[in-house]
Amino acid sequence: MTKIRTRYAPSPTGRMHVGNLRSALYEFLIAKHDGGEFILRIEDTDQERFVEGAVDIIYRTLEKTGLVHDEGPDRDGGVGPYVQSERMKTGIYMKYAKELIDKGEAYYCFCDKERLAGLKTEVVEGKEITVYDKHCLSLSREEVEANLAAGKPFVIRQNIPNEGTTTFRDELYGDITVENAELDDMILIKSDGYPTYNFANVVDDHTMNITHVVRGNEYLSSSPKYQRLYDAFGWQSPVYIHLPLITDENHKKLSKRSGHSSFEDLLEQGFVTEAVVNYIALLGWSPEDNREIFSLEELIREFDYHRISKSPAVFDIQKLRWMNGEYIKAMDFDTFYEMAEPYLKQTLKKSFDLKKIANMVKTRIEVFPDIASHVDFFEELPEYDVEMYTHKKMKTSAESSLKVLKDLLPVLEAQEDYSNDGLYQTLVKYVEEQGVKNGYVMWPIRTALSGKQMTPAGATEIMEVLGKEESLIRIRKGIELLEHAG
Ligand code: GLU
Repeated sequence: MTKIRTRYAPSPTGRMHVGNLRSALYEFLIAKHDGGEFILRIEDTDQERFVEGAVDIIYRTLEKTGLVHDEGPDRDGGVGPYVQSERMKTGIYMKYAKELIDKGEAYYCFCDKERLAGLKTEVVEGKEITVYDKHCLSLSREEVEANLAAGKPFVIRQNIPNEGTTTFRDELYGDITVENAELDDMILIKSDGYPTYNFANVVDDHTMNITHVVRGNEYLSSSPKYQRLYDAFGWQSPVYIHLPLITDENHKKLSKRSGHSSFEDLLEQGFVTEAVVNYIALLGWSPEDNREIFSLEELIREFDYHRISKSPAVFDIQKLRWMNGEYIKAMDFDTFYEMAEPYLKQTLKKSFDLKKIANMVKTRIEVFPDIASHVDFFEELPEYDVEMYTHKKMKTSAESSLKVLKDLLPVLEAQEDYSNDGLYQTLVKYVEEQGVKNGYVMWPIRTALSGKQMTPAGATEIMEVLGKEESLIRIRKGIELLEHAG
């Protein structure tokens, strides 16, 4: 059996879209699941769309996500160059285009802009394309030679007959047959000498011995034309897997407007790389059971491309947030702290034991920016409503709270040991003396300390972090507030 070879073939046009990362991930998983090879090829033949720095983003993303390529521009495997603009300089595309011309499967076209502008157009997937009328197919060999000798600009087009049908196979969609009359004579070599994606992908996938191609299903409609190229050369086409569209919650194509369409966006929003990779794996693929949490190694083991679905995958940011929270919970503390520290420092300027605070929030956040709303009360006691002291379940009222705070103020003033344990013992002693439930005492204290219904830790832990001075200030404030209200 031949070794599986897949490729990730990004165009360096900017940030790494979630859809691109999914293609890369699936290509990687298909190869690695079978001990095959994963190749990186940079598709930069569309010079107008080239964005400076985009190639670096590709490398960085692959490295960060652990999708290590076996071959690529920086790792020669003998079928390079791995950058299309460099491949072009070797003359490879022109060589194969001429082979097609000799076979009658392609032809030179010298039509200028004005002539093309007068031709019929068709809208294909939202884009207006010119339906070429095969005008130049009828040029004689001599006319072509004369035009070339005179240096007339040209493109090379694929020659697709108006009769008959073409069939190709996709792993998910099965055999697809189209009428040739519906296929346009697409350009293979542009007037600047660069190949189009349409041509380069075929030549490159074949000459790089690619066995499986994974890409977005926007390429599905062009695939019959690629199939004709494979057939014309007498090459075997790779296994095709066209992935379903990724949509936003409104079932529209996931776009920049969503604010989370690229890998970089997600990292900036405080998502963890491993969670993003895990989530993206499930955008169109599912395992046999309902399991959702997978490390990359586990994905390699479990990934079976036959289980990829054809239906559009909805990018559900809430689901990703949940998953991210699971990854944060499972992190070892040091790794967590390293990632949490900048967020803690952004909110907490006063000197606090940040490690203690980090420990409080670790199991409570879904993404790192959530930290701010959990810990902001440490920095400054927010204004709060006296109503907050009244809690049905804890059986507290403004009156009972005032009594608790007043009773405990001198005790806490006298207390030296402001450790969580020390404080807890003191409060529990009071609870026992009063013959009440814990919450009856802890609720008003915690309210006075935080001004919040929900805090990432209990009263005594908060007091430990705030320290004696600040804790007492806040309890006195609470008393004042309650006295005023009463
Ligand atoms: N360069 C193409 C893109 O970025 C790759 C498509 C493919 O994988 O064949 O969309």
